[in-house]
Amino acid sequence: MRATSAVVRSVQHDLFGVIGRPAGHSLSPAMMQAAFDILGFKACYLALETDDLAEALAVLDTLGFQGLSVTAPFKQDVMKRCVQVDAAAQRIGAVNTLRRTPTGWEGRNTDWLGAVRALERFHPLRGVTALVFGAGGAARAVVYGLMQAGAHVVITNRTEDRAQELAAALECSWVPLESFERVRPQVVVQATSAGMSGRPYEFHVPPDFFLPHMVVMDIVYAPLETPFLRQAKAGGARVVDGLEMLLYQGIEQFFWWLNRPAPEAAMREALRRAARQHKGKA
Ligand code: NAP
Repeated sequence: MRATSAVVRSVQHDLFGVIGRPAGHSLSPAMMQAAFDILGFKACYLALETDDLAEALAVLDTLGFQGLSVTAPFKQDVMKRCVQVDAAAQRIGAVNTLRRTPTGWEGRNTDWLGAVRALERFHPLRGVTALVFGAGGAARAVVYGLMQAGAHVVITNRTEDRAQELAAALECSWVPLESFERVRPQVVVQATSAGMSGRPYEFHVPPDFFLPHMVVMDIVYAPLETPFLRQAKAGGARVVDGLEMLLYQGIEQFFWWLNRPAPEAAMREALRRAARQHKGKA
């Protein structure tokens, strides 16, 4: 296992981190460390890269790590290594947050809360029709969150079977990609990995699809302004970028670990600064 983001400052610091493969690119260390520092907590948040999740969790437990964020590819695997998993994470089928307890790691999912909180700043979700592009792991958390918030959710996805399976599992609707235009949503979420690092979209959104009454979120945050969001903005929609979901899922993690409100403004600023620096390096 490699700790890639920082050197542990002191053995007296509380230890947190993000575990994944890779992990060095993660923006979470910048966001979380800013939160600890501004509140004067003696805590360190590290990027932890491993090939062996089971071994890494045992080592981190022994070292006394108190909380972990979990990123790809471990969000599903980690579930079977938890002594307890909350109901939302079980339904979503993924854990993105761990908390150490005397009996082992406890798991939950904050991605769905991140998506809901990011959208609710712009539009109440109860009763709206929400169209979600994608049926992968992240889409599953987004769909679960929208449904918990009371939205009517319609899924569309490149591989139709996966859209159908997700809709059946979470009890919402789906439409083939060719006919998503028939849905008249107030909220649209782009939850595929298309657009990430310039990856082309294998679906076409007609120029007149986006309208000023819509709130449109793209959960991809590299680049920050995706072609999908640019198109939504051109149509007059209010747009929410992927860093907002990342921010709010982190705020929920912070609260779960420390049982106190997170410093939202400082975390947003640190996250956006880190994203700009990351872009500069890429
Ligand atoms: P995943 O499980 O691999 O799912 C990928 C999804 O994207 C599938 O629905 C796939 O469709 C679709 N897709 C992939 N390439 C496509 C293309 N070129 N055109 C159209 N659809 C395409 O990935 P994931 O874990 O859900 O992550 C998806 C994205 O969300 C990633 O970019 C990730 O970085 C981002 N994310 C953001 C946050 C945040 O906090 N902002 C949190 C989690 C994830 P098929 O089913 O047809 O393969």
